[in-house]
Amino acid sequence: MTREKLLLIGNGMAGVRTIEEILDRDAERYDITIIGEENYTNYNRIMLSNVLQNKNTIEEIITNPASWYAEQKIELVHHDPAVSLNTGARKVRTQSGKEIGFDKCILATGSRSFILPVEGSSLEGVLGFRTIDDTLSMLETAKSYRKAAVIGGGLLGLEAAKGLVDQGMDVTVVHLEKWLMETQLNEMAGKLLKADLEQQGLKFLMEKKTSRILGDTRVTGLEFSDGSILEADMVIMTVGIRPETALARQAGLAVNRGIVVNDWMETSAQGIYAVGECAEHQGKVYGLVAPLFEQGKVLADVLTGRETAPYGGSTTYTSLKVSGCDLFSAGEIKEVGGVKSIEAYDGLTNSYKKLFIKDNQVVGIVLYGDTSEENRYFKLLKQKQDISALTSVSLLPAGGGCCGGSAADDVTQWADDETICGCNGVTKGTILQAIRGKDLKSVAEVTKATKAGGSCGKCKGMIGDLLTYVLGDRVATAPTGICGCTDLSRDEIVLQIHEKGLTTTDEVYEQLGFRNREGCPKCRPAINFYLNVAFPKEHGDEPASRFVNERLHANIQNNGTFSVIPRMRGGQTTPQQLMQIARVAEKYEVPLVKVTGSQRIGLYGVKKEDLPNMWEELDMTSASAYAKAVRSVKTCVGAAFCRFGTQDSMGLGIKLEERYEFIDTPHKFKMGVSACPRSCAETGVKDFGVIGVENGFQIYIGGNGGTEVQEGQLLTTVETEQEVIDICGAFLQYYRETGIYAERTAPWLKRMGFDHVKKILLSAEQRAELLKRLDEAVEGKRRNPWQQVVEDPKLQKDLYAVVRG
Ligand SMILES: Cc1cc2nc3c(=O)[nH]c(=O)nc-3n(C[C@H](O)[C@H](O)[C@H](O)COP(=O)(O)OP(=O)(O)OC[C@H]3O[C@@H](n4cnc5c(N)ncnc54)[C@H](O)[C@@H]3O)c2cc1C
Ligand code: SF4
Repeated sequence: MTREKLLLIGNGMAGVRTIEEILDRDAERYDITIIGEENYTNYNRIMLSNVLQNKNTIEEIITNPASWYAEQKIELVHHDPAVSLNTGARKVRTQSGKEIGFDKCILATGSRSFILPVEGSSLEGVLGFRTIDDTLSMLETAKSYRKAAVIGGGLLGLEAAKGLVDQGMDVTVVHLEKWLMETQLNEMAGKLLKADLEQQGLKFLMEKKTSRILGDTRVTGLEFSDGSILEADMVIMTVGIRPETALARQAGLAVNRGIVVNDWMETSAQGIYAVGECAEHQGKVYGLVAPLFEQGKVLADVLTGRETAPYGGSTTYTSLKVSGCDLFSAGEIKEVGGVKSIEAYDGLTNSYKKLFIKDNQVVGIVLYGDTSEENRYFKLLKQKQDISALTSVSLLPAGGGCCGGSAADDVTQWADDETICGCNGVTKGTILQAIRGKDLKSVAEVTKATKAGGSCGKCKGMIGDLLTYVLGDRVATAPTGICGCTDLSRDEIVLQIHEKGLTTTDEVYEQLGFRNREGCPKCRPAINFYLNVAFPKEHGDEPASRFVNERLHANIQNNGTFSVIPRMRGGQTTPQQLMQIARVAEKYEVPLVKVTGSQRIGLYGVKKEDLPNMWEELDMTSASAYAKAVRSVKTCVGAAFCRFGTQDSMGLGIKLEERYEFIDTPHKFKMGVSACPRSCAETGVKDFGVIGVENGFQIYIGGNGGTEVQEGQLLTTVETEQEVIDICGAFLQYYRETGIYAERTAPWLKRMGFDHVKKILLSAEQRAELLKRLDEAVEGKRRNPWQQVVEDPKLQKDLYAVVRG
């Protein structure tokens, strides 16, 4: 079968994504040609803001290098715009005179920056913010000029202004309206945003209308309608965009604001389609990527002959890529036509929320400061859920919950077709499929395979949660313990945390100049842990930085249910506890009751919403079976009953567990006590293993079971239980202070050197110092997390209530 010729005009985000979708569905169907006007291969336009804000380089935002086009056998006509389209002869001519025929053609010519038609707008130094070339010009200008004016206080203008401030310029944003981002924010949120941006060095002139741009050849300033003047060496116009429709008009296609398309993305000419910002569907033109990718999917189905649902328009939402200004806006945010609103402002944290409601449905959302509930609200809006059963208070709970998220933020509970990465239109199902099908182990690998997380990066935490959900402990972490957000090693970070007295992850990101100021799932838990160790009193643990298991204090299982594993110190229990466990298991119809590998009884298959009640009814403490922390002490039956036992293994095991439970460690930390060298508790493969001998206890360290089995090494033999307990504490603290997050004791011991660790632990002085620091860390923090949840109804609602729909 001869292949049809498919021509794409516009080498930008929507067009190339459509081609990728087509190749995914049927790579053999078309001979593909792409005509691009710009002198670059496909890049992520969204991230131009990051380039300007010093977070990424141009190289890093190229999505498809030349090699991709070659691999896919796509002919790229580069730096040569299409200038005429003949729909009858099915031919396109480019500026350089090339003629290219096609069977089917996609127009994806995007938009242009709208340049205000005022005197002086063509002067040197007046730029739009749309392309790599615009961005390079801004970066170049910032090297030799100082004063910049940005006209337009919308999303793009603010990102441009922040970028220019980061380049060292004195920047004034000139805005026509009373508050910033007036189409996405209401007055209150707009004002909060302005105050935060002023803190970051931006200046503002509000309600100012530019009447003239001053200068002879190069811009020197702006003149406003009230006669006042602002000096400027550069002017960035961010007052809107206009769909690029010149080619479509010339070809005689139907064009309103954009190129008119039907629900199958077809223009008024058969076989000629349009996607992206240049297209107008049901009277709407979109200026954000998520809808464009949805359009691309429909078109890819159409062009590969797949049955597909018609494109029915998209619900859009907005956030801003400026660190420290968290905002979220979606839907109708004006109180007109029967729309009413409820709002809350928390002056302590500067958080603001406003929900717009009509006919018992959320129709609009504005969040500022605390955006942790954006998913919950957006779901209500998108799914048009009836909220009559919810009170205003349950709609607007104060603050974000001490554990940093609500039930709807638990991405493991989302439906497969829900979008995780809005920038790239990637659903949960696609990510799970990629993790499982391609055996992916890290966020970077997921991004490479699916593009999710490759733009603004806000969804990286959710991708991390999905990886943990599928892989558990097999999620890859960087060997140095730190990630692509920074070039600093673990040691450099820990050193600077101490030197600079940093006590929050945000301070670490800010002061240590992380490229990604929000961090990622690799570094967030690691930094939270390093801060916990460095400043146990000053640093309040940041649950939002913890993975889902630790946030919910229960392991998530492969079907989305959870496990409940109560502590049985030293593996010992009582008839009362057993009856209690049996009663709870029966009452909640627990599908599986199992004795775990660590001598505890696990209840598996528990619904998330049942967790708090079960914990309350069990009235037992958490065994931390989900945590990077001291887990349990396995013991043999020992001298109390066994003929061979020389020591009280159960008694010592219980003492060790009581003393060190709930202490965070770089990775899970398991212990064992056997009362004789037969080692029935398998203490030779524990992080800290004890074997009873005639005259005392042999101590082994660095043994690991699991994927890489490692035999523990004999550290020393001691005479008393107290010595065992002290050496164990010193070992724990030394591992905490020097371990890389997610590094087990076996590789840690290899890295540190056994002799070195031995010397430290056997020095009475050093041991005392380590124990002192461990005691400080334990003080005030040692609480049973289950009990905390049981005592706090708000936590229960925020974390364990399930939002259905
Ligand atoms: C700085 C910046 C930040 C942004 N941030 C966000 C964000 O955070 N979230 C979000 O959702 N969206 C954001 N956007 C918007 C997003 O980038 C666009 O919605 C998206 O790029 C549109 O895709 P498109 O393919 O329709 O157009 P484009 O990506 O602009 O691609 C169109 C391409 O067609 C080319 N072209 C035009 N005419 C011709 C012709 N005749 N022949 C050949 N080629 C032609 C153009 O040169 C361009 O390369 C941002 C945009 C900018 C500029
Ligand atoms: S380790 Fe020794 S003391 Fe403990 S149960 Fe086994 S044989 Fe008995």
